[in-house]
Amino acid sequence: MTLNVLFAANEYRWQQYQDPLRDAFANAGLAVDLFTETDSPEIMDYIVFAPNGTVSDFSPFTRCKAVLNLWAGVEQVVGNQTLTQPLCRMVDAGLEEGMVEWVTGHVLRHHLGMDAQITQQDSAWNPVVPPLARDRTVTILGLGALGRACGEALAALRFNVVGWSASQKDIPGLTCLSGDDGLAEALRQAEIVVLLLPLTDATANLLNAERLALMPKGGVVINPGRGALIDDDALLAALNAGHIAHATLDVFRQEPLPGEHPFWAHPNVTVTPHIASETRPATASQVIAENIRRGEAGEPFLFLVDRAKGY
Ligand code: NAP
Repeated sequence: MTLNVLFAANEYRWQQYQDPLRDAFANAGLAVDLFTETDSPEIMDYIVFAPNGTVSDFSPFTRCKAVLNLWAGVEQVVGNQTLTQPLCRMVDAGLEEGMVEWVTGHVLRHHLGMDAQITQQDSAWNPVVPPLARDRTVTILGLGALGRACGEALAALRFNVVGWSASQKDIPGLTCLSGDDGLAEALRQAEIVVLLLPLTDATANLLNAERLALMPKGGVVINPGRGALIDDDALLAALNAGHIAHATLDVFRQEPLPGEHPFWAHPNVTVTPHIASETRPATASQVIAENIRRGEAGEPFLFLVDRAKGY
């Protein structure tokens, strides 16, 4: 049987994904007709979805067995009242590798004091020896697919890694905490904090003034999660007071970050344009194909979103 799959993302993504998806479907033994638009939503078996694409009302897709999100974050679609089909988020080996590299790079930048070490501009010989990773605590908020992988990579470099999540975890090499007391403890130890939480009602503004104040003076905030996890004004106040030494921010409440936002000009803020990690078409297409294979075989979908929790 030939399946009808609607690719509901923008034209740019279609250019990236059409060949990898066709390859992945063929390799999975799936016969698929791929559509980028349709006048017959009732014949679609699956939707490959990205926000800002062609679909916002899922109700006409009466035969659709699952909506397969191209991104790890689902905050823009999970609350859509027309979405009654199962929703799967993206867990992609390429995305994970990219995030591990970005997080490790930015942690090492701050751990080693690389900005201060680059002294050619003023010919200053300033031999400040950085501590070893074993003497530095990095706290990761969120121990899901990405937080865990980043935590394990940092632990392999011998950082003292503290992780925090909703449910208690047991991950070799990491100190795992949960609950409100666990968050306070994780932040008290956080010389560098990395946010890899999804954006939900429970996590919005999680890093507020009170919680920033728990961090050691001179702490660093690295946010590749979602902009609204942090109270912007509280972060700016903590930076201006010198309590937080630096913030490296990849995600923002409004993207692109508006030109007048104080983060742009702040000397102790690094802005990156939501590039911490992209879903990689080749590996992500295999995940999409595997989930369609599972749907057709009557097997449980991978990475099903818990609609009540919002992630
Ligand atoms: P995930 O596998 O769903 O993991 C989420 C983690 O957050 C889990 O450990 C979960 O705890 C924890 N969590 C959720 N709500 C919580 C709460 N209220 N209190 C404490 N912990 C909570 O997600 P992921 O794949 O690692 O991705 C994380 C986020 O990264 C995405 O949602 C997205 O926003 C962001 N992201 C950004 C980029 C970028 O380029 N900047 C790229 C990809 C993803 P449990 O394990 O107990 O459920």
